[in-house]
Amino acid sequence: MNTLLPTSTAGSLPKPAWLATPETLWAPWQLQGQALDDGKHDALRLALLDQQQAGLDIVSDGEQTRQHFVTTFIEHLHGVDFDRRATVRIRDRYDASVPTVVSSVARQRPVFVEDAKRLRQLTGQPIKWALPGPMTMIDTLYDSHYKSREKLAWAFAEILNEEARELEAAGVDIIQFDEPAFNVFFDEVNDWGIATLERAAQGLRCETAVHICYGYGIKANTDWKKTLGSEWRQYEQAFPKLQTSAIDIISLECHNARVPMELLELIRGKKVMVGAIDVANHAIETPEEVADTLRKALAFVDADKLYPCTNCGMAPLPRQVARGKLEALVKGADIVRQALAG
Ligand SMILES: [Zn+2]
Repeated sequence: MNTLLPTSTAGSLPKPAWLATPETLWAPWQLQGQALDDGKHDALRLALLDQQQAGLDIVSDGEQTRQHFVTTFIEHLHGVDFDRRATVRIRDRYDASVPTVVSSVARQRPVFVEDAKRLRQLTGQPIKWALPGPMTMIDTLYDSHYKSREKLAWAFAEILNEEARELEAAGVDIIQFDEPAFNVFFDEVNDWGIATLERAAQGLRCETAVHICYGYGIKANTDWKKTLGSEWRQYEQAFPKLQTSAIDIISLECHNARVPMELLELIRGKKVMVGAIDVANHAIETPEEVADTLRKALAFVDADKLYPCTNCGMAPLPRQVARGKLEALVKGADIVRQALAG
């Protein structure tokens, strides 16, 4: 990136109400068959337009073609039975009915590659594509085949690598793996979590990112945050190993978070997507609030490695709130950029 402080989002954006139920996770589609396919592609164009009108430097598909950031990818894989459900505790936080791994997992065909080609045709801007990370994938399934979280994670890492290589060939500039589970399972993160993430990114020549956050602004997450005390030091567990990993960019939640900013010193040298937009409330940040968070991060992140971003995806927000937050992000980054240039 030649732009100083290039702006982007963590991933998802709200979908139009004619496509999916608004302000809902796992929102049911409102269309079927060909109309649904067409609707998803129209929504992808609108999500791109919203990002461009706000002035973002790195754009994405806004995850308009997927129902959920993890489930939709898994739905396309062989070896997972969506009719056989079991209740598991996701990220040690809330119970959910999830599908069962019944045999060896495999990717029989590309999942998002056609969508990525479509986005590539629509813009010459750098594009970022989000995939779930191996550890976050295993955490949303019941496994009756591998009987080992680690083995299943390695199997998913290979599948993710196949998809990522094809996304790269389709012209994606940054491939991001979403690993909110890195904020929960610290021993596993260090034992094999980061290793499986590197396997997923193996051989890629485009840039790679990992997004680690405290989740969407849903009640289970905001309730969990209330139990974390006055300082959130979860990042401290994964950072030392991430700093020496092959991953280029680390995407983090920083705004309105109780994450001590000095933890970023532990990943000095990496590019950091600094979350400067809170996705857990509807209040639109002022540009000055955004700038303030970015300035605090600049004490620990070199200016040429700081990428202003959102804390997490914005799928559950009203569309006009998300648009307002995108504009605030761009204007806030502008304030800091001008100060750095001056
Ligand atoms: Zn997130």
